Amino acid sequence: MNLQIKNLKVKAQEKEILKGVDLVVGAGQVHVVMGPNGSGKSTLANVIAGNPMYTIVDGRLTIDGKNINKLTPDKRAKLGIFLGFQNPIEIPGVSVFNVIRKATSNKQSFSSNKQKAIRNKKTNGQLPVASGSVSAFRQDLLEYAASLKLSPDHISRSFNEGFSGGEKKRNEILQMLALSPKLVILDEIDSGLDVDGLKLVAQAIKKFSTLNPKSSIILITHYARILKYIKADFVHVMADGKIVKSGKQKLASEIEEKGYQFLSV
Ligand code: ADP
Ligand code: MG
Repeated sequence: MNLQIKNLKVKAQEKEILKGVDLVVGAGQVHVVMGPNGSGKSTLANVIAGNPMYTIVDGRLTIDGKNINKLTPDKRAKLGIFLGFQNPIEIPGVSVFNVIRKATSNKQSFSSNKQKAIRNKKTNGQLPVASGSVSAFRQDLLEYAASLKLSPDHISRSFNEGFSGGEKKRNEILQMLALSPKLVILDEIDSGLDVDGLKLVAQAIKKFSTLNPKSSIILITHYARILKYIKADFVHVMADGKIVKSGKQKLASEIEEKGYQFLSV
């Protein structure tokens, strides 16, 4: 999926937060957005996903050439935009399985891993796919859970209720794997994870890219450490509501070494 953001200005509760963001993410690319706390990273993620708390004052958001400024979050999800939250909500009494099943049934089609593998091999991921069965869905979900070292009971648990920090993060990744979105935004997916958790999540993201070669990924992070395990095509630094510097992977290493100060942000 191709995402274009042009001169995006956003406010919430009369406060100007994004002050002219420009960003272009091509199909199949991995972009990392870094920046100090409060620079507007989560706001950018929420605005792309259509969170109504934020008002677009100026600029445009385009997906594959279509202006999505006015689309509701559910319509954006249908187009294939997925946001993995920094602080995901709890839904007591509703299981992980049911939340994800509902989300996939809102999409046009669900394709099992097997179908995806065949599709990718034959057509480079382009053919429309047939809908899969509930049992195939459950089987895939259990496989994804296992790959994230979540127990088989995980999918029967109440959504995020009583989850540890690490389980919450892995549960966001589980949804990403199950939904096969065309644009993935992961907000601070690495925060609160130990090294093993971080490696697992990074592996899952790489596997996702292999299964969905046209899908684009935006990783939002405060720290460069996830880049030890995932290669980014571009790295951007946000400060005070703008992208103030863009570069390649090397930019992230410089920030890790010298902090954000060296950019005088
Ligand atoms: P980051 O994710 O980079 O830490 P955020 O996007 O969460 O930054 O926040 C950027 C700034 O906007 C902060 O000063 C924050 O307090 C403010 N902000 C974010 N969301 C809202 C909101 N819904 N209402 C008012 N202010 C907000
Ligand atoms: Mg944030």
